[in-house]
Amino acid sequence: MNTQTPKDAGAVILRRPGADPKNPEVFWVKRSTKLAFLGGYRAFPGGQRESSDEDVRVANCDDPERAAMISCAAREVFEEVCVLLARGAETLTVGQRASLFDDLESGRMSWPELLAHYDLSLDANDFTFAGRWVTPPFAPRRFDTWFFLVNCPAKQEPRTTEDSELESGDWIAASEAFAQWQRSEILMVPPVLHAVRTLADGLDDDTVARFLAVPEAHREPTRRMEFHPNYICFPVRTPTRPPATHTNCYLIYTSREVMVIDPGSPYEDEQRELGACVDELLAAGRNVREIVLTHVHPDHVAGVNALNAHLESKTGKRVPVAAHQSTAESLKGQFEVDRFINDEEVLTLDGEPRIDLRALHTPGHARGHLCFYDERSGALLSGDNIVGFGSVLIDPPEGNMRDYLASLARMRALPNLSVLFGGHGPPVANPYEKIDEYISHRLEREERILAAVREGVSTPKEIVTRVYTDVSPKAHTLAERAVLAHLDKLEADGLVRYDLNSMFVAV
Ligand SMILES: [Zn+2]
Repeated sequence: MNTQTPKDAGAVILRRPGADPKNPEVFWVKRSTKLAFLGGYRAFPGGQRESSDEDVRVANCDDPERAAMISCAAREVFEEVCVLLARGAETLTVGQRASLFDDLESGRMSWPELLAHYDLSLDANDFTFAGRWVTPPFAPRRFDTWFFLVNCPAKQEPRTTEDSELESGDWIAASEAFAQWQRSEILMVPPVLHAVRTLADGLDDDTVARFLAVPEAHREPTRRMEFHPNYICFPVRTPTRPPATHTNCYLIYTSREVMVIDPGSPYEDEQRELGACVDELLAAGRNVREIVLTHVHPDHVAGVNALNAHLESKTGKRVPVAAHQSTAESLKGQFEVDRFINDEEVLTLDGEPRIDLRALHTPGHARGHLCFYDERSGALLSGDNIVGFGSVLIDPPEGNMRDYLASLARMRALPNLSVLFGGHGPPVANPYEKIDEYISHRLEREERILAAVREGVSTPKEIVTRVYTDVSPKAHTLAERAVLAHLDKLEADGLVRYDLNSMFVAV
């Protein structure tokens, strides 16, 4: 279970000095696309709290926790973009600041030692509290992040360092950053989007109040996340495969219609929350067009009946359920699928903006697995073929490795991909890198499995012990299923054959 306590983190929304208050500019960074966690996302400089952060004295701050988080945020900004937010820094030359940076990075001095040694001090009056956001439990890493709004010192120019996890850093007008989000060009986590949206309205006496006006800025769990406009990701708790604990339900909407994809929670409290989110969309005069299923697994379909019962009680009618024919056949007895979705069929949501989703039959994880591709925005709803958290199980006979690799190749060939909205975890902002990683991971495994068979290792159990050395013994039963899927593929490829003595041998 992903029940780990979120780790304390601090982040700074750095404001450019001298910018027009009606059109403020902030310094944002792009996380490296090579990072497994939120690779390619836009963010503000920040990071995890270290134990020495509490050893820094912060002027005008009586609360030790807040002081430690100010210290954390200031240290992270210095480490990530070389801006020293300390009183006394204004007398340092660029060269002196660079040598301080080296002192800290090389470990010659700790952060508190460095501040004391150079007679620098942090002052809480320089750090305006702008909210505290907790990462929802759908992510593999979770933070309880304190955001501070800070004026960048006039003589310091932020820059990303070469060996950092950041690809780039730039000043940008908040209004332009928001416009980039509106054009589906970038991904930001909810607190960054909230900050950008808030600042895009200009700076005035109410700015801080507007930052703090949403419950999520006070550690309330974030439920509804709009990583791309008109695509709401609403993770619901499900009995899914660990380490994931949630399945992403997607609500795609226009001015007139809503499509619900994978309402997967069997739990009443979660179904109620999802129902309330759908109600909000309906209150603006929209209709639910359809409930659409990516595939047959219970953690993607278990909330269908509850959602339909809810909609029926609200509107007097249930909405049609649509899925691939093989999914529909497997679900017989649980509920009726009203309509089959075929490969290459385009599902259109009418209204503003009109959204066209092309269905792609992409079997492998499940026979009737569907992905949905929005060519205009580059969004691909990847279902469980690619996920943002956990790994994808290919379990025969529902799972088929040959089909899976062909499906990944088909996804890889789509033009203009900007994001993968998977069935679990945060959206993937580096789609092509991620798909390549999935393909090479599987091919590497396959190669090692084939090598093992050629050396005479012949049962899935033995192969797991030999090849899955990076997997804990607890997961070996599942790994055996994956090995079986690989062996089936190798057999179909004519590279191994199934022997009468229940063993696999090389051809
Ligand atoms: Zn699945």
